[in-house]
Amino acid sequence: MIYVDNAATTKMSDAAVNTMTKVIRETWGNPSSLYTTGQRAKEVLEEARAEVAAAIGAEAREIVFTSGGSEADNQAIRSAAELGKKKGKMHIISTAIEHHAVLHTLKRLEAEGFSVTLLPVHENGIVEASEVEAAITDETCLVTIMFANNEIGSIQPIREIGALCRAKGVLFHTDAVQAVGHVPVDVVLDNIDFLSASAHKFHGPKGVGFLYARKGIKLTNLIEGGAQERGRRAGTENVPGIAAMATALTEAVSHIAENTTRLTVVRDRLIAGLSEIPHAALNGDAKRRLPSNVNFCFEGIEGESLLLLLDDRGIAASSGSACTSGSLDPSHVLLAIGRVHDVAHGSLRLSIGEDITDGDVEYIIINVKEVVEYLRGFSPIWRDLVSGKKAFIL
Ligand SMILES: *Cc1c(COP(=O)(O)O)cnc(C)c1O
Repeated sequence: MIYVDNAATTKMSDAAVNTMTKVIRETWGNPSSLYTTGQRAKEVLEEARAEVAAAIGAEAREIVFTSGGSEADNQAIRSAAELGKKKGKMHIISTAIEHHAVLHTLKRLEAEGFSVTLLPVHENGIVEASEVEAAITDETCLVTIMFANNEIGSIQPIREIGALCRAKGVLFHTDAVQAVGHVPVDVVLDNIDFLSASAHKFHGPKGVGFLYARKGIKLTNLIEGGAQERGRRAGTENVPGIAAMATALTEAVSHIAENTTRLTVVRDRLIAGLSEIPHAALNGDAKRRLPSNVNFCFEGIEGESLLLLLDDRGIAASSGSACTSGSLDPSHVLLAIGRVHDVAHGSLRLSIGEDITDGDVEYIIINVKEVVEYLRGFSPIWRDLVSGKKAFIL
């Protein structure tokens, strides 16, 4: 099986599995307990916090452990909204291509009286800093823009956006779930107030992540209860998961440079190979994208069929977001970059991992070519396109 769906989840690294099983066996105490068994767990927890903080240029006290990226997104946005509301500022800026953890939280806030501006992105999937700046008003309390997109891999100009938010006194959150551990992220250099990350996107375990909140910014609790996480997130901490996350993150960050070099070559080979398919187009910017992301639309086919046939040939890929597969709605991200419904339905996302071989790459190119041709062979839409009844878009 060639696994090219690392944007949906990654396999845990051996080091992370080792840390997790070791902590489960040896350090199973409750970190809030005062006796030695509890305090040992507390030490593991605080070491992990320091390690995670160091990986993004933060301080340990600025890290709150959560159940994952979705929770961190919810808590960051809620917190900024509460702070804004207190000052009478109830306008939030985001983009049309955010993850649903952000978009659905914003919908909820809209129902509570906030106004939300979802900025459009360019055809390459990027919103420029000047466009963010132009949307900021005296009422704006928060700008929330993802670091890198989970479907098309486009990387936003986060440092510039952060700088202008800081200059204008507006809080800035970034959903960096696809970026942390994959591209350099530094919350100080990048002018970030809130950042969300998730362990299972960088070879850590599922169900654990973290929120970075710059010191001095008050967080709103989503989960009330005990005083864990210095009163910012109640519930006994997932100590084995958190420790494994720290191991995975340190490992990932230490390999960013070499992984980027190698994956960029692989990515660009895949893009070149799949571009040979007629009436196909790359989604997202060719260069300002994650080294691991390839996303194409093929006209005249249906993405779901493509995935099933690739699965038969031992390739695990995706049509876009794992969250929207199973629904018939085309991806909101592909629509936002200007793909029409019919074209957006024929999408394929390959999110490659560090273990991919050159042989895998050639196998993928040959098989995607064959399967697309096969599916077009009995597609009524393709027949209409070829006969001229309908005009090609791509
Ligand atoms: C996966 C993902 C999330 C959700 O993270 P979970 O840990 O699965 O809740 C949020 N945002 C982006 C961009 C993602 O890729």
